[in-house]
Amino acid sequence: MAIARTIPVAKWLATIERRLDVGCKSCNRAREQCGASSQNLLEETYGHIDSAFCDGMATTVTAAHHFIWRHLYASMQAAQAPASKLRFVRPDEESNMNTLWQEEEFKQICSRELLTKKAVEIEKQVSKKEHERERHDFDPKIFYENRFRNRRPDDIVINKNHQTLHILELKRSSNRNEDSSLLGVEEDEANEQHKSIIEVLKAAAPEWTFDQINFVAGRRSAVVEEDFYDKLERLRSTSRENGQDSGGACATHMRSA
Ligand SMILES: [Zn+2]
Repeated sequence: MAIARTIPVAKWLATIERRLDVGCKSCNRAREQCGASSQNLLEETYGHIDSAFCDGMATTVTAAHHFIWRHLYASMQAAQAPASKLRFVRPDEESNMNTLWQEEEFKQICSRELLTKKAVEIEKQVSKKEHERERHDFDPKIFYENRFRNRRPDDIVINKNHQTLHILELKRSSNRNEDSSLLGVEEDEANEQHKSIIEVLKAAAPEWTFDQINFVAGRRSAVVEEDFYDKLERLRSTSRENGQDSGGACATHMRSA
């Protein structure tokens, strides 16, 4: 109900003067269950309870994200032509940039050592959040290495013959309308989230092409159809071997996916 926005939230009730305390009830319950303090609760807004920042809703919100992504991911794979050279790599919950670069397939793009060196250089340019300051001040180099190593995209698609790697990311939008108006802000946020990964990879393996393809789902878990097909087309354009088109059948597959 919270995700579907069919319940009134504290912030809205306060606006119509039906409630004074705007602290999040879900966060409060989650904190009570583990004996934590109920001081300094975040405001209970629709955006908050529909995010992983809400202690009480994080598990549900994450499950909703994974559910939508599983369906989109299956559609993307089904849309591939038989001759497609794309390899879809699905990081699990334990995966991150560190564990991926233990795999031979990734080490062939660039060595772990070079990746780490470039990661420290690029991560220095990414601003630190307040809660990161203590770890940074203890050992800045280790902090930057670890921050990069712990980054994890939703999915990765590789064509090693084409030397292309796509990072795929799903964002759930709190926009009320499931049309193109929901795309801009969420895409900007997704790009910012993985900017470091893209820049580090470009610096470590300049002969490869790296980019990010974002998918945005609205409140009712639907995507903008035209945008989804555009993204599939971007994948298709790098699915061929050495720039040779693998045939027009793929477009038909996509429309029926
Ligand atoms: Zn909360």
